[in-house]
Amino acid sequence: MIPARYGASRFPGKLMQDLGGKPVIVRTYEAAKATGFFDEVYVVTDSEIIFKEIEWHGGQAIMSQKEHDCGTDRIAEAVADMDVDIVVNVQGDEPFTSKEGLAQVLSVFDGADADQIDLASLMTEIHDWREISDPNAVKVVVDKENYALYFSRSPVPYPRDKNTAVQYYKHKGIYAFRKQALLDFYNLPMTILEATEKIECIRFLEYGKRIKMAISNNQGIEIDTPEDLVRANKALKEEKRLPINHKYRNFPMVPKVVYGKGCFDQLGGILGPQRRDKAPFIYLVDDVFKDDEQLIQRIPMRFNDKLLFISSFEEPKTEQVDVLVKSIKTEFSYRPSGIIGIGGGSILDLAKAVSIMLTNKGQASEYQGWDLVKNKAVYHVGIPTISGTGAEVSRTTVLTGPEKKLGINSDFTPFDQVVLDPELTKGVPKDQWFYTGMDCFIHCVESLNGTFLNEFSKSYGEKAYDLCKEIFLDTAISDDSAREKLMMASWHGGMSIAYSQVGVAHAMSYGLSYVLGVKHGIGNCIVFDHLEEYYPEDVAIFKAMKKAHGIQLPVDICKDLTDNQMDTMVSIALSLVPLWENALGPDWDSVINADKLKALYAKM
Ligand code: NAD
Ligand code: ZN
Repeated sequence: MIPARYGASRFPGKLMQDLGGKPVIVRTYEAAKATGFFDEVYVVTDSEIIFKEIEWHGGQAIMSQKEHDCGTDRIAEAVADMDVDIVVNVQGDEPFTSKEGLAQVLSVFDGADADQIDLASLMTEIHDWREISDPNAVKVVVDKENYALYFSRSPVPYPRDKNTAVQYYKHKGIYAFRKQALLDFYNLPMTILEATEKIECIRFLEYGKRIKMAISNNQGIEIDTPEDLVRANKALKEEKRLPINHKYRNFPMVPKVVYGKGCFDQLGGILGPQRRDKAPFIYLVDDVFKDDEQLIQRIPMRFNDKLLFISSFEEPKTEQVDVLVKSIKTEFSYRPSGIIGIGGGSILDLAKAVSIMLTNKGQASEYQGWDLVKNKAVYHVGIPTISGTGAEVSRTTVLTGPEKKLGINSDFTPFDQVVLDPELTKGVPKDQWFYTGMDCFIHCVESLNGTFLNEFSKSYGEKAYDLCKEIFLDTAISDDSAREKLMMASWHGGMSIAYSQVGVAHAMSYGLSYVLGVKHGIGNCIVFDHLEEYYPEDVAIFKAMKKAHGIQLPVDICKDLTDNQMDTMVSIALSLVPLWENALGPDWDSVINADKLKALYAKM
């Protein structure tokens, strides 16, 4: 619910001011909707102008029936007759309401103490004394469990000794109410503390309700004054111009790599110097090798090292990472000397993620995104046994989490050491070889045709692209040679996206994978087969490769999807902004939209 009053005292009509071509309130509405967190989003307003504007942009608006003193009353009236569980109040003048902040507030209701919470709200750390003492910034103090103790415009706590290291928090106007708490607020009269401070949520405390606070340090810009609007317009422009993949990226590369048939036997010598006292090496090995005595014998296990066979039947999940990390921590009192992944993209990604989560608090899902990892990972080694994903060289580990399929992309993600032994890829089944190999081909196509392309990416992408054509179109090539070439194509394809990004096929394939569990390689193939409009020449080449190797792709996999599943698929795909931006340029959202995606998916 976005309460929206037309006449704001400090900046009349601010919600209808222009922000990058749309009124502020429309931006706020679209941002809330784009999070994908809500079953419904409404603007609740006293103004016909706002009402019409929202409807005109295809949104949902409700006219308030009565006069209200505050936004909370306005939304309480609106939800009184709705069948709802949790109602979130998003301020109309916060068009940059952060997805992360909303996720934090909502996650409070997943905690063990959820049934004790009447409402949740957000706070952000503040450090500047001017802001701490500014009465416009509402401060909040919390108990050990982050339940609000009090809200005030005064600096609380008051620092008698100015050197005390105390963290001040500013309250942010996002609330998630249980419906009953909201209705209680509406029906209970205003109280004296609330009236004195002019802070709505004090009323809840005065009536004994429990407010749990979540922390977000994503500041955002509230629009209170015309100057704020100027700042917001500037920020919006910069956001558009400087997406995550800005022009100059300073990224790490794998510092050590050994290559060649049989080089796997170097592993013992490589690990020796990395071993710390009683700290074990943990091997995560694809369980396809469970009965491969020969390979297992060659793994240089010493002392208390541990070997875990892991199934790659499903792609790695954040939860799986958490379980693995917990079991390692429970079994060993020493932090491992290293994590060694032996397998395809699934196992390599798992090894990267486990090594990160051994040194970073909380759950893996908290780190899905760009540059969220704080501490250096445990030493980790990647040993691919199938080629194509480039996971051995990339800066990400792709995980499916409770809310999204997204990588942990950070400077600490890449392997410290990679072992490239083409012989290890010998047993890969033909279809799987094709699907994973095509991942590499598609990485190159998407990078080479993307708007982020520069000479750095191009030099890697072109090499890998040519290798793929040799491997998959030249029927005279020997198996041995094809294996060696594909291993290097995978590496170069991965490097090509390091300074660039993937594109349409990957965005759509993520949607398939999230909703239907379709695996990455085959999912990319299914999608790419239908992308003539975006990559005409390369789709033709792909079809020729498919034919040359007698590959039959599944058909009609989206035929029986419910509307809900289709919507989720589309919203997962559309949420991958950098991919679309690379594929279609900064104005990608004028080229692609939900309906177009649905039509494409329907063909698959
Ligand atoms: P995979 O790791 O799931 O392996 C595919 C199949 O091949 C599995 O059944 C596996 O057991 C089998 N296999 C592997 N090596 C074998 C061998 N030598 N002999 C016989 N069978 C073998 O598949 P993949 O395509 O390598 O990886 C897909 C995963 O990689 C996805 O989870 C995807 O999200 C991820 N990915 C990551 C990145 C990245 O940069 N981190 C990039 C692309 C894809
Ligand atoms: Zn890929």
